[in-house]
Amino acid sequence: MVSTGRRPASGDAEFRRRRAEYEHERNRGNFFHPRTESCPWCGAREIRFRIRVADTRQCKPGTFDMDECSSCGHVFQNPRLTDTGLAYYCRDVYDGLGREHYASIAERSRPAYRRRLRLLGGRPRPEHWLDVGARHGHFCREARVSLPGTTFHALDPSEEILRARDRGWVDAAESTPLIEFAGDHLAGFDVVSLIHYLERTTSPRQELSAVRRVLRPGGVVLIELVNPRSRYARLHGRFWYCWMAPQNLHLMPWHNMCELLEETGFVVSCVELGAANKPFDNLAALLTALNYFLPPARPWPWLRRPGGPAGRLLRAAAMILAGPLLGLALVLDLLLHQVIRRRRGGNTYRIVAVAG
Ligand SMILES: [Zn+2]
Repeated sequence: MVSTGRRPASGDAEFRRRRAEYEHERNRGNFFHPRTESCPWCGAREIRFRIRVADTRQCKPGTFDMDECSSCGHVFQNPRLTDTGLAYYCRDVYDGLGREHYASIAERSRPAYRRRLRLLGGRPRPEHWLDVGARHGHFCREARVSLPGTTFHALDPSEEILRARDRGWVDAAESTPLIEFAGDHLAGFDVVSLIHYLERTTSPRQELSAVRRVLRPGGVVLIELVNPRSRYARLHGRFWYCWMAPQNLHLMPWHNMCELLEETGFVVSCVELGAANKPFDNLAALLTALNYFLPPARPWPWLRRPGGPAGRLLRAAAMILAGPLLGLALVLDLLLHQVIRRRRGGNTYRIVAVAG
């Protein structure tokens, strides 16, 4: 749902460069690994088709199948995108043309940042905190307000994280992958946070082993993940916001994550289920569907048919007409959250675990 950012005029050289780049990559292909016939989490061969999703935010071409393991409940993209495919679909989501849009969402996410921090309340102030998949660094900026004296180190593949360092939101920032980073930072941190990070990795198991290596004994890992068992995942189908297609490669039920933590040498100290819910399912599904079906807001370089002024006018009019419905959806989300937060469902869960 990219809606802001510098408008790329059709004659603009930068826009043409991006368009040629997208087209070249699309023509080159090599976007998918061969399909797997077994669950990448537990190895069981009882896997079944769950849903076909699409890139409902940027509307880049393609569809993606999500399968589910009948044995352990793991949900995963199958066939899985290659690094080339991921680079194509992730470009301009958090940086480039999508940078300002993502930043506007991150600025509105402060309540979620504070709830994460409260989960670590009552523990000694950490000296060194590593945030993996930090994107622009907004969470670290919030965390350092309540933890003066803690140093924050951030990792993210996008160079946007280097801006966070320049702004003073983090003390150090790198684009190095965690598994590589861990080799040089053994037992260097008191806390590692993984906020919607593991879903997007090719091997959550290897990532968690790397986390164990960079944590000091007694150090804490804070994990936040999408809950694939949310009722809204089935109700909203491909327009469920949390599919985040095609970035999310793995969606694991919370009990699978707890088992993996124990196997990796952690002791789970807290699992937050309903209370971690983010009250936006209905509103986000409506916005996602509108974004997907209406003409594009801008002539984005990845679109085969970028659309024209008439289409953009139609989009603006439809969004205005949808206003009351969107308002209703928001009210419904806020009301239902009062029920969900007391139960074990919701679209998100958080886990805190201690390195043994
Ligand atoms: Zn499985």
